[in-house]
Amino acid sequence: MTIALPIITSALAEQSSAPPVAPAQANRVGELFDSHGRVIHDLRLSVTDRCNFRCRYCMDPDYSYMPKMELLSLEEYLRVVRVCVSLGISKIRVTGGEPTLYPELLELLEALGKMPIKDIAMTTNGSLMTERQARAWRTAGLDRITLSLDSLRDDRVAHITRAKTGLQSTINAIRIAQAVGLTPIKVNAVIMRGVNDDELADFADFAREHKIDMRLIEFMPLDSGRAWDRSAVVSADEMLDAINARHELVQLDKHDPHSPSLNFGFADGAPGRIGIIASVTRPFCGACSRLRVTADGKIRPCLFSLKEWDLRPLLRSGASDDDLGAFVVDAVWTKQKGHSINAADFVQPDRAMSAIGG
Ligand code: SAM
Ligand code: SF4
Repeated sequence: MTIALPIITSALAEQSSAPPVAPAQANRVGELFDSHGRVIHDLRLSVTDRCNFRCRYCMDPDYSYMPKMELLSLEEYLRVVRVCVSLGISKIRVTGGEPTLYPELLELLEALGKMPIKDIAMTTNGSLMTERQARAWRTAGLDRITLSLDSLRDDRVAHITRAKTGLQSTINAIRIAQAVGLTPIKVNAVIMRGVNDDELADFADFAREHKIDMRLIEFMPLDSGRAWDRSAVVSADEMLDAINARHELVQLDKHDPHSPSLNFGFADGAPGRIGIIASVTRPFCGACSRLRVTADGKIRPCLFSLKEWDLRPLLRSGASDDDLGAFVVDAVWTKQKGHSINAADFVQPDRAMSAIGG
């Protein structure tokens, strides 16, 4: 992968002041790794920044979408994925914005299903899911879905999402996913102080009742409205205390070191699990194996990257797959050691979560 065609050299010079790629890195085939020794095998691919919700922690009502012509085409997404897979990516999560709004979602999943990828997942708010569609996604090769639900009270769901939706919409999506085998199902909830932190134990009841993994996420500074405030973050410790007061939790031994969540089962053996994603109070950057590509073709080595690596000029100017591969390798090499949410000089990225791909 030591191709140094002029197009790549100039693109790199413009986009990054990263250290040169180490020869050892460039010689390793079938493995993507960064300058901190982390192997990267998990791609989050955003296929749209559009959404039918405007969740308060993610997208403001006045957020302007990226112009359509700036978004990659289906062929371009697939080419990027093919190159990443040839470099060792073995897990893909399709996300957005709301990925079910992407008109060529089924074609994308069908093509992904034919690639040598071990795990194909998708994160969706679930509001537009029909059983027929979900069955087609499953047949195409989608393995599982993660849904988002931030309250168990209809009025709060509508308030948080700023949409005409409610709990039933997610319960329907869970039922559909169970019926067609898009399992195990995870349900994400972003916990915010004074908004939904009084429902933590209720979320545990919900996990038990529906036999799902409930993932409780610390609020991160990635909202387009920049309303994030440290005081709004409910810590993992607080979440665990609130749940343990109703249901005793046991930490599960089989912890995947690359999983962002701390996983718990119920001491009484009830079904369902709790996963806590403590990005703010217990960062897991040391074990991060993720790489992100945005809907407009920017590589983001980290969720909090301030620098992006633009694939689009390469894709649209005749670069070969080897050129693209070398570009991805170099971008991954620059992945920062960790986010600095807890540092005084933390700078929130320009892009909100909806435009990055969560
Ligand atoms: N629209 C889909 C959905 O909501 O499931 C997929 C995209 S959304 C950006 C992916 C995930 O990011 C959601 O589960 C959401 O809860 C999470 N998310 C968005 N903004 C966040 C924030 N500021 N902090 C933590 N998680 C956030
Ligand atoms: Fe849309 Fe998902 Fe962001 Fe909510 S979290 S606004 S559903 S992209």
